[in-house]
Amino acid sequence: MAEKSLRISEDYYISTMIEIPDTGKGTHIIRLTPARCNIWAVTRNSRTIIVDTGISFDRSRIENALERKGLIPEAVILTHTHFDHAGNAAWLQAEYGAEVVVQEAESEMLASGDMPIPKGTYTFTRGLVSIGKKMGPVFRYDPCVAEHVFADQFDLNRFGINGFIIHTPGHSPGGATVVIDDEIAIAGDSVIGTMPGSPFPPFADDVPLLISSWRKIIDTGCRSFLPGHGKPVSREEMIIEYNKRK
Ligand SMILES: [Zn+2]
Repeated sequence: MAEKSLRISEDYYISTMIEIPDTGKGTHIIRLTPARCNIWAVTRNSRTIIVDTGISFDRSRIENALERKGLIPEAVILTHTHFDHAGNAAWLQAEYGAEVVVQEAESEMLASGDMPIPKGTYTFTRGLVSIGKKMGPVFRYDPCVAEHVFADQFDLNRFGINGFIIHTPGHSPGGATVVIDDEIAIAGDSVIGTMPGSPFPPFADDVPLLISSWRKIIDTGCRSFLPGHGKPVSREEMIIEYNKRK
């Protein structure tokens, strides 16, 4: 029985792998393991950072994936501090000595392990938010004090990665997008990849602010945009959606 369930989870793992072609400069990006959010491992010259972390339930899968791939994360970048993205930041910090990086508007939320729920941007997601508000404690996670707090931009070269982070608020106040080799942008929940043709996220604190952040995200010139949930979104899809919303 145990063996059978193990096989099923391994099949699930393989079928849900998302592998991104290496950048022109040889940076390797993978979705580390299926989890409550997309967890991206970014590796260059044997140095690795992780972007977003899932929930505590995902911990053993993260541990197994890191071990299988021989990766030791030096840093954890949070695209924002919603529970499904920040739930393992404190654990990765303690277990691997990873330095945590967060935008300043959310460093206190991260340190408290609490999250305000964003507003729905569609009628049906507004309804979901009112249900979520009644479930408050479910959204708590292990609090984490970040080593690095930035305002506008943060350089990733200190971790051996040719890239930087920019502040892209709107989904949440401290939203951040990680730009790798000017080719790939890891956008967290500023972009969603679960609804083909609709990459604008269904939840956001401030829609006009998010649209102005989309301008910034597109202006990075990246060719591919990795969302917090679902599959990569192309530059063409981003521009079509932006032109509908601006
Ligand atoms: Zn979120």
